[in-house]
Amino acid sequence: MSAVNTGEPQVDVAIVGGGLVGASLALALAPTGLKTALIEGVAPDANTQPSFDDRTTALGNGTRRSFEALGIWSQVAPKAAPIRRIHVSDAGRFGFARLEASEHGIDAFGYVVTNRVLGAALRASMTTLPNLDLRMPAKCTGVALHEGYVELETEPAAAPLRARLVVAADGADSKVRAAAGLAATLEDYRQVAIVSHVRSSRPADGTAYERFTPDGPFAVLPLFDGAYGVVWTLAPEAAERVLALSDKDYLAALQGEFGWRIGRLLSVGKRNAYPLKLSRAETLTGQRVVLIGNAAQGLHPVAGQGFNLGLRDAATLAELLAEIVRRDGPRADIGSPDVLREFVSRRAADRDGVTRFTDGLVKLFGDTRPGVPLLRDLGLLLFDLSPTAKQALSRLSWGFAGRTPRLGRGLGVMP
Ligand SMILES: Cc1cc2nc3c(=O)[nH]c(=O)nc-3n(C[C@H](O)[C@H](O)[C@H](O)COP(=O)(O)OP(=O)(O)OC[C@H]3O[C@@H](n4cnc5c(N)ncnc54)[C@H](O)[C@@H]3O)c2cc1C
Repeated sequence: MSAVNTGEPQVDVAIVGGGLVGASLALALAPTGLKTALIEGVAPDANTQPSFDDRTTALGNGTRRSFEALGIWSQVAPKAAPIRRIHVSDAGRFGFARLEASEHGIDAFGYVVTNRVLGAALRASMTTLPNLDLRMPAKCTGVALHEGYVELETEPAAAPLRARLVVAADGADSKVRAAAGLAATLEDYRQVAIVSHVRSSRPADGTAYERFTPDGPFAVLPLFDGAYGVVWTLAPEAAERVLALSDKDYLAALQGEFGWRIGRLLSVGKRNAYPLKLSRAETLTGQRVVLIGNAAQGLHPVAGQGFNLGLRDAATLAELLAEIVRRDGPRADIGSPDVLREFVSRRAADRDGVTRFTDGLVKLFGDTRPGVPLLRDLGLLLFDLSPTAKQALSRLSWGFAGRTPRLGRGLGVMP
C-alpha cells in the first residue's frame, strides 16, 4: 500500500479495468469535463484481453441506444446481427415458446456482436478523448483510502495516482472491491459454457434459439456473416470431455444435441470455456469507491444480461456525476457519501430484478425433481399464448425496472 500523500488528487475519476464496462464509462464521462484516468492491466490489442475475446454478446435495444449516444454504434452496426425472433424450448420435451420482434413493434430484440468488435470500437473512441489519461497496460496493485481521495498503485511502477472517486470495473474477481473491504457472495453453478462460432448449411436468418437442458442452457445466436455463435453449457466433467473432442467429433456432438433446425453443421472455429458463477457484491459503494459491471455483479449468461446491466451501471454513474458537476461546478465532491448513496438507490431495482430473474431461470430449468419439468413446459406453453408475458420479457431489452438512464434513451449524459 502507498505512502500517505497530502497532495491534491490528479484526477477526478480513476476507472480500474478497461473491459466492456470500464471502457464504456470512460466514453460516457467525456462530456462531463471530469478529468478521468483508465487503468487496464492488459494491452488493448493483446489476444489475452479477457473482456474483448471471441465471445458473442447479445446487446439489448437500450445498449444499442447507448452506443448510438456514445458515437460508436456506427462502427459496431456493420458487424451486428439483429435478433428478429427467439425460439425457446425445453430439451427433449414438448414446451416451447416463440417471440417475434415485429409483434412487439420493434425491429429486433437485440443485436449479436463479438466482444472483439466491441473492444475495437471502444478502444478507437477512447484514444480520441482529451480528458482521458489512458494507462494500459498497467495493473492496479494497491488501493489506499484517504479522507479526500483514493491513491492507487500500479504495475509497472509509476507515481501513485490520486483520484476523488475510484470506479472498480475490474471484473468479477475485483481486487479493488476486496481492497475497499466490500464483501461479495459467490455461488458456483457447476456449469461451464463452451463458446464457439459455427457454420451450417442454413445461414443465420435472425433467429436466436435458446434450449434449456438439465445441464444448463444451449444458445445458438445469429452472427452478421451468416455464421452462428453457439453457447453450450455443460457440467464441468462433460465440458472437459467435449473440449477434448476433434472438430469433427465436436460438430457431430453439437448436431446430436441441437438437432437439424439450422441444417447440417459444417465447420467450427476455436472453442473457449467459461466456468459459470454468480458473484454479487453485498454493497455497491465504499469510501470513495463505486463498483460497476461484473465487479458489482457477475451473472450467468442464460439471458444475455450481464453486459447490458453493467452498461446501465456505467450510464447511471456518468449521468449522476454529470448532474453533480452541473449543479456544484467542476470542483464538486463527486465521491461524497451523498453521491454514492444516490448511485446505490438508482441502481437497486434494476440490479436486483435482473440478478433474480437470471438466477431463477438457471435454477428453474436445472430442476429435475418429479413434476417440475411438466410445470415448466406448461409455463412455456402459457407464456407462448400470453402477449402480456411476452411483452414483459421483451422489456428486458431496455432494462428491468427503475429509471432508464439518459444514455439508454439515446440522450447524452449532460442534462
Ligand atoms: C459465455 C458468456 C456469454 C455472455 N454473453 C452475454 C450476452 O450475450 N449479453 C450480455 O449482456 N452479457 C453477456 N455476458 C456477460 C458479459 O461478458 C460481462 O457482463 C462483461 O464482460 C462484464 O464486463 P466488465 O467490463 O464488467 O468485466 P470484464 O469483462 O471482466 O473486464 C474486466 C477488465 O478489468 C481488467 N482488470 C482486472 N483486474 C485489473 C487490475 N488489477 N488492474 C487493471 N485492470 C484490471 C481486466 O483485464 C479486464 O479488461 C456473457 C458472459 C459469458 C461468460
